[in-house]
Amino acid sequence: MKEYEIIVIGGGPAGITLSKMLGKKFKMAVIRPENHSMIYCALPYAIEGLITNEKTFKEDSLVLDAGADLIRSKAQNVDFENKVVNLENGESLTYEKLIIASGATPFMPPIPGIDLEGVTGFKTADDLIWIEEKLDKDVNNAVVVGAGAIGIELAQALAFKGINVNLIDMAGSVLPNMLDAELSEELRFEMTNKGVNFIGNARVTELRGENFVEEVVMDSGKIIKFQSEEKGKQTGIVIFAVGMKPEIDFLKNTTLEIDKQGIVINDKMETNIPNVYAVGDCVQFYSGIDHKPLLGKLATNAVPMSKILGFNLLGQNRSYKGFFNGAATKVGKYYLGSTGFTEKIAKERGFDIICGYSKVTTKFPIMPTKKNKQMKLVVDRKTHRVLGAQIVSGEPVIGRIDLLTYAIQKDSTVEELAELSYASQPHQSFYPAANVVVLASEEIIKKLNK
Ligand SMILES: Cc1cc2nc3c(=O)[nH]c(=O)nc-3n(C[C@H](O)[C@H](O)[C@H](O)COP(=O)(O)OP(=O)(O)OC[C@H]3O[C@@H](n4cnc5c(N)ncnc54)[C@H](O)[C@@H]3O)c2cc1C
Repeated sequence: MKEYEIIVIGGGPAGITLSKMLGKKFKMAVIRPENHSMIYCALPYAIEGLITNEKTFKEDSLVLDAGADLIRSKAQNVDFENKVVNLENGESLTYEKLIIASGATPFMPPIPGIDLEGVTGFKTADDLIWIEEKLDKDVNNAVVVGAGAIGIELAQALAFKGINVNLIDMAGSVLPNMLDAELSEELRFEMTNKGVNFIGNARVTELRGENFVEEVVMDSGKIIKFQSEEKGKQTGIVIFAVGMKPEIDFLKNTTLEIDKQGIVINDKMETNIPNVYAVGDCVQFYSGIDHKPLLGKLATNAVPMSKILGFNLLGQNRSYKGFFNGAATKVGKYYLGSTGFTEKIAKERGFDIICGYSKVTTKFPIMPTKKNKQMKLVVDRKTHRVLGAQIVSGEPVIGRIDLLTYAIQKDSTVEELAELSYASQPHQSFYPAANVVVLASEEIIKKLNK
């Protein structure tokens, strides 16, 4: 039996981060079943044709050059008592410390017809190739279920390829976990301009077809039918992007503590079993704001968690404060991002909130290429603490979103945010007289002082 000091189950961003940090310091193995680790974020752009499929593959050298062994197999089960990982290829490996980083897979709702040919989730290289092959044949219709960032990016990519796309969501607006409805209204029109028909307030209840999916049935009774001139010709596909479920079935029936959204860990990424840690999409995340479980499985959470675990295994004593939910995407000509809680989510989590808005241009208004930019700020009425922010703009927003995430991370109040010291320049901002963050903060302060 091969012996390792550290074994990581999973070769995604979490596993790669850990091998880079620990591969040369410990005898370490990373177990991964796929031929390639993937840049998942880029998959929609491969479908669109902006990049080749190969560009979404990560090099094995990321793990191998870091000094770790890369084992191409799947962990079938773990014997925690004897510290053994049993692999699908029949091998068994022993560990001193085990890190579970097995990620998550698309959630497929248990509705009639979900197993029909022509229905898929969207995550792996196989999903990517499957969709491309369908588009190369007779498929000219797609239904994307779920208008979160993955669904939105995929729907746009399919529409770009000339496919007739319907995007369905239970919420009445697009990106419901990132933007409150009033900020996403324009995006909905932009989706229509880009050839995506958004159907909100609708739940897919059934998929029908003989040999493959032919009809998508919604709770309203509305049915999308994939028309075909020739009987037996498949013309439509259905892709679910309604969330991710932790990939932890191989750990069931063990003493490992698991909750609804994944493996339970503390702020050191320790599980309830000594010398067993878990990071990334396979764990139940906690919000850094209210320390309650939070949805939103993102690489920008998996990597920082893995870094903290890596530092601790190197002898430091760091703690993970939780995830602050910074995220961004693009809808047609709009760049958008959000951080912390939206107004809706903050209310659902029990906060009494107050909101402020601001609208500026991305450059001095006198500049010819200026674009509009709007922001919404969400603040806790009781403590004045900043809870969340959303920005929709004609230019990239990640810099601003990261600044606002930092403000939330540091428990800043709206009064502190209003005192932000900022830069201004004709090509890069509104006039020095106003800043998008300060304006929204000042509006809230005025409301609070009324
Ligand atoms: C289309 C798409 C777009 C995305 N866009 C963004 C984005 O723009 N920004 C962002 O921050 N995040 C984005 N994400 C989310 C991001 O990809 C994930 O949060 C991230 O990959 C999680 O990393 P991870 O290492 O925890 O898990 P994963 O990347 O899922 O890796 C888990 C690995 O474990 C392996 N594994 C599973 N079970 C076993 C087993 N039993 N034995 C051995 N290995 C196993 C898997 O095969 C996989 O290799 C996107 C995801 C998708 C699907």
